[in-house]
Amino acid sequence: MKCPFCQHSESDVIDTRDTDDSRIRRRRECAKCERRFTTYEEIEQEEMFVIKKDGRREKFDRHKLRTGIEKSCEKRPVSQEQIDGIVNWVESKIRKGDKREIKTSELGELVIERLHKTDQVAYIRFASVYRSFTDIESFEKALKNLRKRK
Ligand SMILES: [Zn+2]
Repeated sequence: MKCPFCQHSESDVIDTRDTDDSRIRRRRECAKCERRFTTYEEIEQEEMFVIKKDGRREKFDRHKLRTGIEKSCEKRPVSQEQIDGIVNWVESKIRKGDKREIKTSELGELVIERLHKTDQVAYIRFASVYRSFTDIESFEKALKNLRKRK
């Protein structure tokens, strides 16, 4: 990704957003002249994979993840920026791994971890889907924590 001003090839990503046409808009800052520019990149998923419970590998789908989080945040005071932030953070976690892959359960836990800090209701909604609360005790514990916060 060359800087349009000085043609330097290194830049830092300072912001990442989804667009409506399944491209990613990134704000970049040139590492040399420090001027900022915007790039639109096709989503290639950079060959990241999610490993399903049954062992199948599926391409990591940013939009799918985002939709899941959005559903949990319905009618909650969570901004698009906050949701973007969670998606970006999760994505960067996968990218940093050696294999660029993640288990479905780990992916869920990462989101849960962030939602826990963001919004308690969204957190419980998401967790109840991903963790599918195997025992009633853990669900009650989560509810108790929720009440305490109010
Ligand atoms: Zn430059």
